[in-house]
Amino acid sequence: MNPFNELGIRHDIVNAITELGFEKPTPIQESAIPVLLSGSNDFVGLAQTGTGKTAAFGLPLLELIDYKKNFPQALILCPTRELCLQISNDIKNYAKNLPNVSVVAVYGGANIVNQLRDIKRGVQIVVATPGRMKDILNRKAIDFSQVSYVVLDEADEMLNMGFQEDIDEILATTPSTKKTWLFSATMPREVRAIAQNYMTDPKELTMGTKNTGNVNIEHEYYIVKARDKYAAFKRIVDYNPEIFGIVFCRTKIETQEIAESLVKDGYNADALHGDLSQQQRDKVMKRYRDRSLQLLIATDVAARGIDVNDVTHVINYSLPDEIENYTHRSGRTGRAGKTGISIAIINSKELHKIRQIEKVIGKQFSKAEIPSGFDVVEKQLFGLVHKVNQVEVNDQQIDQYIPRIMVEFADMSKEDIIKRFVSLEFNRFLEYYKGARDLNATADDRGDRKERGERSERGARGGSAGFTRLFINLGAVDDFTRGDLLGYICNNTGISGRSVGKIDMKGVFSFFEVEEEHVQKVIDAFKPIDFHGRDVRIEISGESSGGRDRRSSGGERRSGGSFGGERRNSGEDRRSSGGFGSGERRDRNSGGGFRDFSGKRKEDRKDGASSREGGRRRRNN
Ligand code: AMP
Repeated sequence: MNPFNELGIRHDIVNAITELGFEKPTPIQESAIPVLLSGSNDFVGLAQTGTGKTAAFGLPLLELIDYKKNFPQALILCPTRELCLQISNDIKNYAKNLPNVSVVAVYGGANIVNQLRDIKRGVQIVVATPGRMKDILNRKAIDFSQVSYVVLDEADEMLNMGFQEDIDEILATTPSTKKTWLFSATMPREVRAIAQNYMTDPKELTMGTKNTGNVNIEHEYYIVKARDKYAAFKRIVDYNPEIFGIVFCRTKIETQEIAESLVKDGYNADALHGDLSQQQRDKVMKRYRDRSLQLLIATDVAARGIDVNDVTHVINYSLPDEIENYTHRSGRTGRAGKTGISIAIINSKELHKIRQIEKVIGKQFSKAEIPSGFDVVEKQLFGLVHKVNQVEVNDQQIDQYIPRIMVEFADMSKEDIIKRFVSLEFNRFLEYYKGARDLNATADDRGDRKERGERSERGARGGSAGFTRLFINLGAVDDFTRGDLLGYICNNTGISGRSVGKIDMKGVFSFFEVEEEHVQKVIDAFKPIDFHGRDVRIEISGESSGGRDRRSSGGERRSGGSFGGERRNSGEDRRSSGGFGSGERRDRNSGGGFRDFSGKRKEDRKDGASSREGGRRRRNN
């Protein structure tokens, strides 16, 4: 006997779910079904997707509905069209042996006329997305005055998607006597508020500990430099030849671009995002469900409600903006008792987000290493060798060709033949990974050039593309901060903070990047000042002559020619020469100094250089 019978589910339904492979209840079904079957409680279930919650509420609903009455008795609200279809199909499947059960799915992006017609025919269970449901209510095409049960599924997602008002309006049309069952993967304040506002003393059930991610999912992160992200991602995929994965990007554009690059590079991938028509989306999803697509590249919104079993990997190509969304993403794998891996490819600056996610999911990530080219090739090669070993040989078909094949290979050793077959499959692969770099970046690697404004290429002068890298002889030991630097530049040049690139604070000096067109303005702005009595020196940094070179040369030398005729004698005393060579000084009567600067302009100082040179290029701002 199927244990669902013991939970109080009638034979006709148990027979149907047994056919679906439900041999025993999942933990949430085991605990929720008896509570919900009583029909007398409001209910809050904190459960991840993939835990079997559709049946946890669907089976009790089918037990509680009065099939003789042909009006809406249950309303299930859920965030997306996909989930809406999934739930209605699941319930229809559970009910397939029951006569006269009417379930209607109501969702946006489809012809409303057909949905109105289905409703008119008579419906007992309505499964709906909030927007379309409200639309139908506004048309007075449905009457919820006798609804006994309302299910809010993936409540956190519905609120994330801005459905709060729609839900309020829809619930206002249902009677106060109804019971409300709320399911949510996470319990942010807003969801808690729904429970408080709409429910009376709800029974609360938590599957596992609160906010604990699915135990079947392992979480890994890889640290790479932004510019290596795509290459690293491909390596992860290549290292897992059997991958059947969903790859999450942050934007539609990124989703499309990654999918296109992958296809160009010979991968079996396609994009799923909101700019596609419903028809296009359905097509992509069908290919993915049929497994004729190996990698689905998706945005959070488009992927909501995707219920595909056996997803092996979820890859966070970009972390979600909302930390809570990570739970929904990773919940696409490790479903129905299977195991899965959720991977985040991050740069060193995003490590704090991983720590935040760990708090939300109550599980630790492990740090993984991007496999080397050698590892990938080895894995692929032995994958192939294994397949060759396992392949089923159709002797009948092959035998007729064997004599001729044997003649072709007559002069070759077994080893030679194997080498040739492997080369045939592998030459391109070996070529691609020949001399492949290590793509792992360390956690404290601050060399990530994408941190400001997505600039990935090195510019001509050693900065990011379009930027010039400048050296300044102030650093952390001077109590000199990034904020000081940015503030001074913005206040004294009028350029925006966006024109300043990466700031690399060192001990006694620092580097920072400025958009090429503003370089001279910035250099000029620093000329007449000191910082706590220290001459401020600023100059263009060459790619090869970075801080180390400068320090070894005493930090005193200017790269001649950079500023045109500004070279000063190496033997000069810095203080007396003002540190900026002859003819550079200018008087600045206006414009702010660093907040922490002494405020002393060089002109204020009693050194000979000031009076000697001040007149040459004096300028009043
Ligand atoms: P859900 O969380 O409702 O989306 O369910 C996740 C997956 O688990 C679906 O594919 C269900 O068909 C499957 N499932 C639900 N309950 C059971 C069960 N008791 N035994 C086996 N599979 C189940």
